[in-house]
Amino acid sequence: MKIAIVGTGYVGLVTGTCFAETGVIVSCVDIDKKKISSLRKGIAILYEPGLDVMLKRNIEKGRLFFTTDIQESISGAEAIFIAVGTPPNEDGSADLSHVLSVASEIGKTINSYILVVIKSTVPVGTSEKVRKIIKTELIKRGADVQFDMASNPEFLKEGSAVEDFLKPERIVIGTDNERAAEIMSRLYKPFILNNHPIYYMDIISAELTKYAANAMLATRISFINEIANLCDLLGADVNQVRKGIGSDSRIGNKFLYPGPGYGGSCFPKDVKALIRTATEKGYEMKVISAVEKANEYQKNVLFNKIKNHFNNDLNNKKIGVWGLSFKPHTDDIRESSSIYLIKKLLSEGAIVSAYDPAAMKEAEKILGNKVTFASGPYEAIKGADALVMVTEWPEFRLPDLEKLSELMRQKVVFDGRNIYDPAEIKKAGFTYYGIGRR
Ligand code: NAD
Repeated sequence: MKIAIVGTGYVGLVTGTCFAETGVIVSCVDIDKKKISSLRKGIAILYEPGLDVMLKRNIEKGRLFFTTDIQESISGAEAIFIAVGTPPNEDGSADLSHVLSVASEIGKTINSYILVVIKSTVPVGTSEKVRKIIKTELIKRGADVQFDMASNPEFLKEGSAVEDFLKPERIVIGTDNERAAEIMSRLYKPFILNNHPIYYMDIISAELTKYAANAMLATRISFINEIANLCDLLGADVNQVRKGIGSDSRIGNKFLYPGPGYGGSCFPKDVKALIRTATEKGYEMKVISAVEKANEYQKNVLFNKIKNHFNNDLNNKKIGVWGLSFKPHTDDIRESSSIYLIKKLLSEGAIVSAYDPAAMKEAEKILGNKVTFASGPYEAIKGADALVMVTEWPEFRLPDLEKLSELMRQKVVFDGRNIYDPAEIKKAGFTYYGIGRR
């Protein structure tokens, strides 16, 4: 079986590599020539645990190819996956220009039957738009070529993307005919052998499922953030409250961690796009709109705590920041709360020294020389007036408090993810601030 994947970002590259791992011949195409030339050498352009080894193995075995030519990648393929970006437009809607331009390329290129699968997160109705564009291109060149559409939203999590793809909690497939469903079921068979569920549904339900999932997750985060903010005002401890509610099986304890607001390449844009989709239908998403509003507020909570501590004067305060990526185990800084916070600190005259195990190269592209990028966590807090832990990488979990005491100018810790024990930190002579901790 041969397939093509368009877009070699977090989703496309992981999808292509994992399908190749099952013996499928995969040809990945991207417009970014630098990326493709690096991938051909087996060098992943992004940080994702486990990806490098698998990438090299499948290239060596002759199952995984990279090209900038869509025609080359489509030739002989039974299915083509569209996995290009869908960033937000100014008005919050998803920018479909990449997806639609790939659709037109497909229409100009195919010479035999192909299944066109949309893996990018796209608003309801996009598969139909793509179908129309391909048809128009085929008519223009008088080509009588059959094709089908399928929606196959991706649920992998950055930081554990390979693992998530290989052992999915569920696979969602939207199709409108048996031929398309048969191809998808053959392709995904190796991934469901261990009872991982696969759900077949109609195309628009599949498209909506992805947005509903991300909106639900964002809702849980905003909910617990709101409870944490109330804990701060009441003197309660959100960690206790979290345990108290999470043991109810109807609520569950996953994804109920307060923090500096959700970020990343998906939640913010997908929440916005869902609100926009509803608005276009004349419906107001009341809960989801509130979730977004709450998150905008939350992004300032840590900053306000820091500013208050320093009596509203951050000028020349040296702040050591631990963590730049939007979450651990990724180098992705898109909509990262840490970058947002750093920009605010800089705008108030603070001096920022930052460290992240994987995301410093990406952060440097945005922050340039406005920030000092340290060689390690302790380097970042040398002479600092405060340590702000924003992204909970494992190496930040058990800091050497004695070393921190020796190196820092003032002993203050802002724990943006509630990973430290306030009592222990205070015992070591530090002032401690968490999110909703007593
Ligand atoms: P990304 O920005 O990392 O990668 C997109 C890639 O597409 C880039 O390499 C870009 O050069 C390429 N591209 C753009 N236009 C192209 C074209 N015309 N032809 C060929 N290549 C083209 O994006 P991503 O994070 O992989 O996300 C892709 C989609 O998957 C988005 O819709 C996103 O919402 C969705 N998604 C992302 C995640 C995630 O965790 N990142 C998870 C689930 C779903």
